[in-house]
Amino acid sequence: MSLFTLVAQFIRRQWRAYGTSALLLAVIALLTVWLPRQVGQVVDALVARRLDSAGLAHELGLIVLAGVAIYFMRVTWRQLLYAAAYGLGVELRTRLYERLSLQGPRFYQTRRTGDLMALATNDIDAVEQAAGEAVLAGFDGTQTLLLVVASMALGVDWRLTLVALLPFPVMAWSFWWISNHVHTASRESLDHFGHLNDQVHETLSGVRTVRALGLEARSTADFAVLADRAAQASLKAQRWEAAYEPAVGFTLSTAMVLSLGMGGYLVWHDQLSIGQLTSFSLYLGQMIWPMFAAGWVLSLIERGRAAWDRLQPVLNEPLSVLDDGAVTQIQPGDLQAHELVFAYPGQSRPALAGVSWQIQPGQTLGLVGPTGAGKSTLVRLLLRQFAPASGGLQWGGVALSDYRLDTLRAAVSWVPQEPFLFSASVAENIALARPDATRAQIEHVAHMAAVHDDILRLPKGYDTPVGERGVTLSGGQRQRIAIARALLADAPLLLLDDALSAVDTDTEARILRHLHELRAQRPERIVIVVSHRLSAVADADHVLVLRDGQLSEQGHHAHLLALQGWYARQWRYQQLEQQLESDDAAA
Ligand code: ATP
Repeated sequence: MSLFTLVAQFIRRQWRAYGTSALLLAVIALLTVWLPRQVGQVVDALVARRLDSAGLAHELGLIVLAGVAIYFMRVTWRQLLYAAAYGLGVELRTRLYERLSLQGPRFYQTRRTGDLMALATNDIDAVEQAAGEAVLAGFDGTQTLLLVVASMALGVDWRLTLVALLPFPVMAWSFWWISNHVHTASRESLDHFGHLNDQVHETLSGVRTVRALGLEARSTADFAVLADRAAQASLKAQRWEAAYEPAVGFTLSTAMVLSLGMGGYLVWHDQLSIGQLTSFSLYLGQMIWPMFAAGWVLSLIERGRAAWDRLQPVLNEPLSVLDDGAVTQIQPGDLQAHELVFAYPGQSRPALAGVSWQIQPGQTLGLVGPTGAGKSTLVRLLLRQFAPASGGLQWGGVALSDYRLDTLRAAVSWVPQEPFLFSASVAENIALARPDATRAQIEHVAHMAAVHDDILRLPKGYDTPVGERGVTLSGGQRQRIAIARALLADAPLLLLDDALSAVDTDTEARILRHLHELRAQRPERIVIVVSHRLSAVADADHVLVLRDGQLSEQGHHAHLLALQGWYARQWRYQQLEQQLESDDAAA
């Protein structure tokens, strides 16, 4: 869809606002033409002593009334039009936000956050202006142009008008040429602004690392280069936009010279009076506004088109995970994977290669293996962030892809390796999935996640704001608040993806014990625990050991120890490590 189609569709939907604004503009234009005529007539009548004081008051009253009417009509059309155009901005931002919230990691792997933010602000502003100011200035300019040309052709002389209009095709061509450059320069300027935004976003997200590594100067220098490039790109766009003005000036001067020449000839041959030639020159002067309006409108349209060219692919990009399942209720039964194969986009080596397993309701599955083995990848397939290349996942005998996405996601409580906390209070963060939860319920799950005491020590307890991304909390506190949040959601599948990595072994044991106790309340809940620490999965009903995307060992703890493989070696190593740590602590 082009920008014109988008704006045309929008105008059709908002026809009342646009129609009323256009009507008001037309009335304003007529009144503006009427006013000087009226003033002239009043002056003539006064000079000829045809007006008594009552008549003069009446005529002046009419003029004042017209002035007041023009003022209110101008205010009204602006309000109507800008409100409608801002409506398009709201509509586009909502569409973009909705799209972004539905897209999966595959989409975000190829897009940059700062650039997406620029789309939501700068680019949508440009489209909004094309639908607001550009449409109205275009209408106003065209209307004035038609009025002036009609006055020139019908009121003065049509031959003189034709001659005066001769330079206009050249101006149209130069406008077209300038517009092409404005379009390219605007596109570059918007792209550069996107890069700049990206840099700001990345630097602010990693500001602690930048400071810790003493990279402030280098980061500032890199930023200055990007800022300069963005400024140069904006300047280039501005320079091209400024080129409209000389084109207008040149055209009007040429038209003036031609009309004086032709007008002089007509006057010489008594086909035109000097007064008519003077009026004609004044009309020509009135064409300045429509010409400038044309340049302004074109630059707004080109900016809008450049922005729309950037925005449209994001709005139209198909969702990275299709939501075409129809099953709206999770079926009770086993969760199982059959010969799962998956490679990340652009990667030839599979992150999972032929993995099969099965877990019954009420059981706990442990997922361990060296770093990069594919544990989190398996979790992402369960969350349907990605779709497997072959093989499949089933829950209750139904393929995961047959469930509706919202059904599946509501049935899964996921605590990722790096949980995200919003800048709200601790209680609000815990109650994210259930905003109606009572304080007692929130405190209960916080207790289960072994974070209740930590929260009570915060300045305002559960009402303490956690700062952006939970910056005021420790990593372990963030993890446990995220676990509490997952427990409160009370979903039938709980996924803990290395969610205990930042807590000590005692706290880990306490949380796992609580999870075990919770089985009584939710006997059918399946728990999947991904962990580097094998103590976290020692009590699991079944443990999978992944290595290089393949299942290398599986079974329960005792069985795996007996196998004398990777699990048994790691277990011995971790036990020894723990022993040394407690010896150190005792000493
Ligand atoms: P860790 O214990 O370190 O968290 P993991 O077992 O969870 O590791 P995964 O995150 O599943 O490992 O990664 C499995 C493989 O897939 C790794 O080789 C990793 O480099 C690769 N990988 C992970 N995420 C992506 C991605 N978004 N794009 C491309 N490759 C990826």
